[in-house]
Amino acid sequence: MDFTNYTKIYPDIAGRFGQYGGAFLPPELVDGFKEIEQAYMTIAHSASFINELRRIRREFQGRPTPVYHCERLSNRLGRCQIYLKREDLNHTGAHKLNHCMGEGLLAKYMGKKRLIAETGAGQHGVALATAAAFFGLECEIHMGEVDIIKQAPNVTRMKILGAKVVPVSHGLKTLKEAVDSAFESYMKNYKDSIYCIGSVVGPHPFPMMVRDFQMVVGIEAREQYMEMTGELPDQICACVGGGSNAMGLFTAFLKDPVKIVGVEPMGRGPNVGDNAASITFGKKGILHGFESLLLQDDKGNPLPVYSIASGLDYPSVGPEHAFLHDIERVDYTSVTDKEAIEAFFMLSRYEGIIPALESSHALAYAIKAARANTANSILVNLSGRGDKDIDYVEKYYGTGEDYKI
Ligand SMILES: *Cc1c(COP(=O)(O)O)cnc(C)c1O
Repeated sequence: MDFTNYTKIYPDIAGRFGQYGGAFLPPELVDGFKEIEQAYMTIAHSASFINELRRIRREFQGRPTPVYHCERLSNRLGRCQIYLKREDLNHTGAHKLNHCMGEGLLAKYMGKKRLIAETGAGQHGVALATAAAFFGLECEIHMGEVDIIKQAPNVTRMKILGAKVVPVSHGLKTLKEAVDSAFESYMKNYKDSIYCIGSVVGPHPFPMMVRDFQMVVGIEAREQYMEMTGELPDQICACVGGGSNAMGLFTAFLKDPVKIVGVEPMGRGPNVGDNAASITFGKKGILHGFESLLLQDDKGNPLPVYSIASGLDYPSVGPEHAFLHDIERVDYTSVTDKEAIEAFFMLSRYEGIIPALESSHALAYAIKAARANTANSILVNLSGRGDKDIDYVEKYYGTGEDYKI
């Protein structure tokens, strides 16, 4: 396949990436999503929108984020040189702000006064609350009561940033119910509100829009890497939850002779409920308004999922990843909790960078490839910093004394 005009061809006008994607919406939501799509197609390609987003990235987010060569870690492992795209250095500590600022700016241009979203672990909620505060918009975050207790610091952050956190008390009181609740609120308020999805998932146009807002990661990284080394990396990799940080990095390299690897969470192992490896084990199905690979039972209900990284435990995956898997442009693999924890400690001890547990999955793949000597150079998307994870890691895994300097 020729990838020269790839982002102009995919998705098609119906929001399809091959057999995946689309928009499966209740009739009450169709108008709202159409309005977002039309606004995005016109406003987002205007010079004033693009210039304003550039200014925000530079002055508020701290972009461009650097590419960093992990010399000590690489030398310890063998010959392969590992590089990081430092998305952990984004304001708020992860790549999520890249699309939240885009969504906030779109809302502003559309004349909306409120951002509505759900959040599971609270990372998307915090990034969106940050964007809302920046743009002077109201922010309403729906969150299951179970998650509110588990993720208390993020709830506090959202409130300090001025967001209204709506507790969801039905069903299992976690992410799925929070999505239902946020959809319901959006249905009632779509005239003055906009729904903001937190990854390359959901109904069209979100998988496309969030990818486009994240593409800055790969465009910067490709240029920075070439500038540093004079060539392209052998491989690039990123962790895949919904898949936004991965699409951000991958898109800029699709036409290059570079091996691209998406890393899924294998959690405690391959049994149902022990992982969230949706591409590895999923089958085609529909969840949350889009068609993709889905971990599902015989009746099409989503199966329970688990990962040590709460940003990765989603039973489906962005439709574009399912498509890139189908056409074999991207390789999808997985790493376990244990491998991710090892990578977490290694980067902390040998490079002075504490990575998010999500990002540790991508790094764990690079470490495995370096040990196996199957690449000369790998560029890893370090999607976020690990401050949020230190209490959990210390409680269950200690502080990494086994990793001697
Ligand atoms: C949310 C999150 C992820 C997973 O989301 P994607 O859409 O798959 O990128 C990965 N890393 C970090 C740090 C996150 O906060």
